[in-house]
Amino acid sequence: MADTGRALIGAEWREADGTFTVYAPATGQPLGEVADCGPELTARAVDAAAEAFPAWRAMPAHERADLMRAAARELAARAETIGAIMTAEQGKPLAEATGEVLSGADHLLWAAEETRRLYGETVPGAHADNRIWLLPEPVGVVAGITPWNFPVSMITRKLGPALAAGCTVVLKPAELTPLSAIAVAEAFVAAGLPAGVFNLVTTSRPAEFGAVVMADPRVRKVSFTGSTEVGRELIRQSAQDVKRLSVELGGHAPVLVFPDADPVAAARAVARSKFLNAGQACTAPNRIYVHSSLAAAFTAELVRRAEAAELGPLIDERAVAKVTRHVEDALARGATALTGGRASGGRGTSYPATVLSGVTDDMLICREETFGPVAPVLEFDDCDTVVARANATPYGLTAYVWTNDLNRTIRIAEELQFGMVTVNGGPLAPPQAPFGGVKSSGYGREGGHHGVADYLEYKYLSVGLGR
Ligand code: NAP
Repeated sequence: MADTGRALIGAEWREADGTFTVYAPATGQPLGEVADCGPELTARAVDAAAEAFPAWRAMPAHERADLMRAAARELAARAETIGAIMTAEQGKPLAEATGEVLSGADHLLWAAEETRRLYGETVPGAHADNRIWLLPEPVGVVAGITPWNFPVSMITRKLGPALAAGCTVVLKPAELTPLSAIAVAEAFVAAGLPAGVFNLVTTSRPAEFGAVVMADPRVRKVSFTGSTEVGRELIRQSAQDVKRLSVELGGHAPVLVFPDADPVAAARAVARSKFLNAGQACTAPNRIYVHSSLAAAFTAELVRRAEAAELGPLIDERAVAKVTRHVEDALARGATALTGGRASGGRGTSYPATVLSGVTDDMLICREETFGPVAPVLEFDDCDTVVARANATPYGLTAYVWTNDLNRTIRIAEELQFGMVTVNGGPLAPPQAPFGGVKSSGYGREGGHHGVADYLEYKYLSVGLGR
């Protein structure tokens, strides 16, 4: 593990005036010290990104793609090392962490290929002597802000499309997981990316970073993934400079298991998506509506899977306190813990995989994002009103439906007010699909050509032909 992590600004690995400590959630032990960059270093990082922008933008697409592919190769080659760093500072099991790094490399590769498909458009002219073209152009310098729950893939999901579009990036990783981010930056440097194309600013003062990038007119876009609360604040700040913004925010995913579904297959998939990363995922099921005719079979399998799940610790004590508050509220209002239901105690910040039955929509757990390994099961009888219950949340990121009825699949998928709907499966975030939400889950998409378009402006060029 690195003793001291430094910020990457232009070609330099810079120390800051101070450092902050990174701790292991599993043990509470310190893992390392990281540069605590203030506004001055953030401004230097924007300088570096602005200086690197013209050459990166002008570089032929296939050369940009070559460099991005080299970065993807470096990342994949270091998957186990970076995975171990991630497990230490974030807590997820090693196989999940290594898988995340490989998936991050895959996103970069896909984005690298997309550089060669940044097509413009020709549209009909307004009169005989007029021609109109739409020219894709990179928006400019981009500031990225990422959360701790997926410390590598949240970064590569921004870097891939931004770099493919020809933007340069200043990125601030989460304070709790900067070591994984530094390891990603090392892979980019080893791949030979030009100085200033990717700058990494670690800090324990996120609001100061936000203020600098929001106030700097050279930063043309901010891409944020994190809580809805911080997202709202950034939206307010972006108004000042009318800055382009993408916000990937919180979620409160419903699962709808209809009477014609296979309850065991549904329970297995729900367990996988619920207990992945100990429930600390924006796509984690938070309200599991199961038709009463399947409830017994579904919950029995879910409990079996919960008891066999391999969970890392939660990120910190605050996370344990929030999960505890949600579970205690549910139990006090009449829910039953079929397994788990109480913090594990002892060293670290563990919470066991928990299944609650008898949950109702008014409980805290059905209104706030829990971000922990608790599966709340709500029974329903009326297939016509359950969609309205699923939609009754300010969030709109992802929803899951279990049914084998084609009519129902299409009707319900259209009625659900979520950016992503999965039928008969778990969450998938392949590079070719646009990931993102509606309502208070944010706007903008990451992945697919829509994700790259989020980093492009289409300049409208009108040319009059002389006679
Ligand atoms: P968070 O507290 O909002 O933090 C996210 C990032 O924003 C961190 O880097 C944080 O820095 C920074 N930040 C905090 N205050 C800021 C400010 N005033 N100005 C600028 N930046 C600021 O969220 P989190 O707890 O790390 O992440 C969990 C949340 O992310 C959940 O709600 C989850 O659903 C959401 N999420 C959404 C998606 C999606 O794609 N929709 C994906 C993953 C996670 P510090 O680390 O220093 O606090």
